[in-house]
Amino acid sequence: MLAEIFIPHGHCYLWKPTLVGLHLASDALIALAYYSIPLMLIYFVQKRRDVPFNWIFLLFGAFIVFCGTGHLIEIWTLWHPTYWLSGFVKASTATVSLYTAGMLVPLIPKALALPSPAQLAAANQALQQEIRERIEAEQALKKSEALYRGIVEDQTELICRYLPDGSLTFVNGAYCRYFGKNRDQLLGQAFIPFVPDQNRDQISDRMNTLLALTPTRSVAIYEHQVIVNGEIRWQRWSNRAIFDEQDNIIEFQSVGLDITEHKLAEELRAKNLTLEAEKRYAESANRAKSEFLANMTHELRTPLNAILGFTQLLVREPNLTPSQHEQLSIITHSGEHLLELINDVLEMSKIEAGRTVLNPSRFDLYRLIDSLEEMLQLKARSKGLHLIFDLSPDVPQYVQTDESKLRQVLINLLGNAIKFTEAGSVTLCVSVVSTHSSVVTSASLLTQEGVEKSDNEQLTIHFEVEDTGPGIAPDELATLFNAFVQTETGRNSQEGTGLGLAISQKFVELMGGKLTINSSLGQGTTAIFDVLVTLVREADTPCQAPKKRAIALAPNQPTYRILVVEDRWENRHLLVKLLQPLGFEVLEASNGQEGVALWESWEPHLILMDMRMPVMDGYEATKRIKAHIKGQATVIIAITASVFDDKRAVVMSAGCDDFVRKPFRESVLLEKIAAHLGVQYVYEDSPQLTSLRSRASIEVQTKEALAVMPPSWISQLYLAAVCGDYEQMLTLLDQIPETQSAIKSALADLVNNFRFDLIIDLTQDFS
Ligand code: ADP
Repeated sequence: MLAEIFIPHGHCYLWKPTLVGLHLASDALIALAYYSIPLMLIYFVQKRRDVPFNWIFLLFGAFIVFCGTGHLIEIWTLWHPTYWLSGFVKASTATVSLYTAGMLVPLIPKALALPSPAQLAAANQALQQEIRERIEAEQALKKSEALYRGIVEDQTELICRYLPDGSLTFVNGAYCRYFGKNRDQLLGQAFIPFVPDQNRDQISDRMNTLLALTPTRSVAIYEHQVIVNGEIRWQRWSNRAIFDEQDNIIEFQSVGLDITEHKLAEELRAKNLTLEAEKRYAESANRAKSEFLANMTHELRTPLNAILGFTQLLVREPNLTPSQHEQLSIITHSGEHLLELINDVLEMSKIEAGRTVLNPSRFDLYRLIDSLEEMLQLKARSKGLHLIFDLSPDVPQYVQTDESKLRQVLINLLGNAIKFTEAGSVTLCVSVVSTHSSVVTSASLLTQEGVEKSDNEQLTIHFEVEDTGPGIAPDELATLFNAFVQTETGRNSQEGTGLGLAISQKFVELMGGKLTINSSLGQGTTAIFDVLVTLVREADTPCQAPKKRAIALAPNQPTYRILVVEDRWENRHLLVKLLQPLGFEVLEASNGQEGVALWESWEPHLILMDMRMPVMDGYEATKRIKAHIKGQATVIIAITASVFDDKRAVVMSAGCDDFVRKPFRESVLLEKIAAHLGVQYVYEDSPQLTSLRSRASIEVQTKEALAVMPPSWISQLYLAAVCGDYEQMLTLLDQIPETQSAIKSALADLVNNFRFDLIIDLTQDFS
């Protein structure tokens, strides 16, 4: 059948239908395949537009389509001899294939440069690694940002950023808390509303300064005020400018601190400095005032010395009428009152100037109390009052504290009680409160009761002065210790200065205690205070004879020469008048220079030296005298109207052996002379009985001390006493060594008072 069909080149296929069929089927299948391949290529290109050089796939597609068409034309030309057509198709195929081949040439190196799948896989892996690393870095970044944000947020410092126009771009938590606002209320707003109106211009000026900051000087620190919750507070800000690449300021970052407390402290410090300066000024003014007072009182005391001194001398005149006696006693009383006032005012000014110090000494507490009893008894009796002194038996005899201050406090309190009480009694109770630290020593002391106490032990002694007087109203109690304050009763009495309690309180404080006054109107008053004392074995000054008036030197004593060096005639005269009648030899010098000259030529045993004198003062004269060996044997007692205790140290350091204050009491001066020269006096009147307590204590003390004398000597004294041999007794007393001056003066006292009975009591046990 094939043969029947025209086949122009059938002979090429040997006219065999199977061969034709083979070619035909093969061409048809090739064409089918050639057409399908471009479809897939187009599909691929469509899907993978990112594949490099994808246009070459299209070229391949076109080339394959032409090849497929060539195979279809092969089938066609089996039966249809359209060789032109097949020629054109082949020519087109050739063109496309040549073009494709041509295009492939430059493409090959590019294609070769493309990464292989292995390379791609490696690159991919590297890429994934990088991605992982980036993710990690990002996480670390986030963490660190959170950390720094946390730090910034947790700061107690206020942190903010703001633009050059002042509007805030960042604020930390502290900033929000400080101003009591949240971020939304603050961000984008200017901080200027927080600044008080009056300071805003200043802040604008500072903003201009901040805008002038440069990268090399990018920080400026300012302090200013802000208003927070209606309260003005101080802040210190450290402002850092942030620059762009062109060095223009784009923002400021500031760290602020509330410095209100610091500012207040600074203000306080400044105030304190001013106060301190004022205090120093006041202190120097106070010093000037006390110097002035010291000088003033010196001037007041000096004439008072003459008034009181000559009054004391006048009282001795035998021919005085009773009215003259009375007038002299008024002069003495007024003079003493004036002296008391001067002393009080001065004491107060010393306290105010901080110049009051404790001058502890060892003294006989029993004797102090006895002397007060003796002194005040008369006054109490004259008012019909019972003066009761109740001394607890465990109170020690010898103690160490400031005797003169304790005496002054007791005199003031007892004096007030007697002064203001019209009926009833005034009682002084003395007892021991407690024992403090004790320094163990071998020495032990006996109290009145015979209780043993060790030396150096500290005790608190309790004093109570109770009266049955008018009492003090509660509202007046509060101001009682103020200087110059008197209660109704005090004002009515028209006596006193209102200084006594103020001074007493300070003195008690100095002695380690506290003074309190308990009182109610109509019920009497009780003044209570404690004093810290140290127990000692004996007093600094030996037991003195009871105070009586010396009328002469006891017989059989050397003649003592006393030189009075004093510029004021009346005072010199007073001393001469006082000493000469007693039996002393006295010469006068009116200044230090004369004094030194007389000392050289006359060699006095003792000099009474005024310290303030023209030409040469007492300090210089004393120094000159004491610079000689001979001068060491001369006793110099300074007599000064100075009132400060520290003057005493100055006087002593100049070389003086002792110190007597003007105006002096005759007995005080004579006692001092006796203490230094060992002279004995004959006293006026029959023996004045010492109180039982003193006498008992003298007895015990004298008996103990007597044991140091040889038994034969004690027997002689006993015999002399039994025979009433006054002269022999004095001769025996002369044999008592200087080291036993206490026993000497105690015995001399008994002899001079004709208490031979007591001497017998003391000595009979030994004989
Ligand atoms: P002065 O006694 O010199 O007036 P004080 O300071 O000693 O000064 O006393 C102050 C005032 O306290 C006295 O004026 C008196 O009014 C009152 N006062 C002191 N002691 C007593 C007392 N025992 N009874 C009543 N009033 C007293």
